[in-house]
Amino acid sequence: MDEKEIMQIFADTAYVRTGGSGEERRCAEYIAEKCRALTGREAALEPFDVDMAVIRAARFTVDGQEVPCKGYLCAGSGTVQAPLYYLPNTDPASLAGCRGKIVMIDGYLGHWIYQDMLDNGAVGFVTYDGDANYTDRDIDQRELRSFVSNGRLVPGVNINAKDAIEIVRRGGGTACIQLEQDQSVGRSQNVVLDLPGQTEEHIVFTAHYDSTSLSLGAYDNMSGSAGLLAMAERFSKEQHRYGLRFVWCGSEERGLLGSKAYAAAHEKELEKAVLNINLDMIGSVMGKFIACVTGEEKLVHYIEYMAGELGFGMEARQGVYSSDSTPLADKGVPAVSFARLAPHNTATIHNSYDTAALLAGSQMRADIGFIGAFAARMATAARCPVGREMPENMKEKLDYYLLRKREKK
Ligand SMILES: [Zn+2]
Repeated sequence: MDEKEIMQIFADTAYVRTGGSGEERRCAEYIAEKCRALTGREAALEPFDVDMAVIRAARFTVDGQEVPCKGYLCAGSGTVQAPLYYLPNTDPASLAGCRGKIVMIDGYLGHWIYQDMLDNGAVGFVTYDGDANYTDRDIDQRELRSFVSNGRLVPGVNINAKDAIEIVRRGGGTACIQLEQDQSVGRSQNVVLDLPGQTEEHIVFTAHYDSTSLSLGAYDNMSGSAGLLAMAERFSKEQHRYGLRFVWCGSEERGLLGSKAYAAAHEKELEKAVLNINLDMIGSVMGKFIACVTGEEKLVHYIEYMAGELGFGMEARQGVYSSDSTPLADKGVPAVSFARLAPHNTATIHNSYDTAALLAGSQMRADIGFIGAFAARMATAARCPVGREMPENMKEKLDYYLLRKREKK
C-alpha cells in the first residue's frame, strides 16, 4: 500500500466503533474485505460474548442542580442520594472519608480504587473526563468493567472536567445519582487471517480496530490496524518460514476483551506461537517511536541494534504495554508492542480529536517499514532467537497489570 491507500483506510473507517456495536462489526467486515483484496486470502470473523447495556435514564444533581452526565454502563440500576466527597488521594485517611458518600475520583476508574472506595463505604461514584482547557463539553460513555467491579455494583456517572472543577470549587453538597439501564450479552469479534509458513510455529500480529465512544479512533488504533494490513499484504508476496497469523482485535478499549478472548480460544495453539508483534498507535505527525518488550531483555537490545543499523530513530524498553500484547504475553508468548507516542499537546486519544489529522502518510510508511523489517527477520529466521521463557520481572509486571497482585506504592 502506498501513502494514499493507507490514508484512504482512515477515510473509510471514520466512524465511532465501540466494542460490541454494529459499527464495530461493520469495521470487522471492512478489514476482512481488505484482507481479501490485498492478500487474496479469506479472513475469519471470530465472535465472542461481551456485556452490553442500554441506559434508560442517567441523572446527576448536586444540591438540586442538574449536571450533564453519562451513566456508567453495566453499573446496575438504582438511585442514591448522599453528600459528595472528592477523593484526590488514596491514603487510608482520605479513603476513610468515603463512608456513606458519593465519591468523585480523578482519572480512570481502576480496580483497586473502586474496591477501596466500596470497602470504605462509598454508595456511588463520579468520574470526569475531557480537558478543562478544551472548549468542548464532551462526555465519554464509560462502563463499569466486570474485572473492576467483581460484581459489586453501585451507580456511577461520568461528567465533564469543567463541571467537576466547579462542583469541587463550590465544596460539594448533596449529590443524587439516578441510573436505569437494561443489561444484556452482546457480541464483538476478532478478525483472523492466516499466511501459512513452512512450520506449525507461528508469529501472531495484533492490532485493535475498535474505538471509544467519542472517537473515530484513527490514531488509536486504525493506524495499527492499517499497519497490520500493510504487513499482511507484504508477507502474502514474500517467503517466510514461520506461519504468520494476523489478528485484528475487537473491544480492546473495553479492557483487552478481544485479545483475552483470542488467548482463551487459542490457548493450545499459542504454545506454537514464537512471538507476538502488536501495533497500537503509529504514524502520528509528532512523537517518538518506541518498542515495549514483554519478554527477555535481549530482544530490547536486538531491536535497538537493528534500528541503529537501519538508521531508524527509536527507543526500546522492557515493560507491559496496555494493549493486546498483554493477554498473549500472559500465555507465555514473548511480545513486542510498537507505537509512536505523540506529546499530549499535539495528539490526544479517546476523544473527538482523534482523527486522521493527527497522522501523516509518510510517517505511517516509515513506521510500517521499520516494523516490517523487524517482522521479516523474525518471519524468515532459521530459528526465532527470542527466548520463550517469560522473565521473572515481566511475570511480576503481568501479575500487577492483570490484577492478580497489588503493586505496593
Ligand atoms: Zn489503542
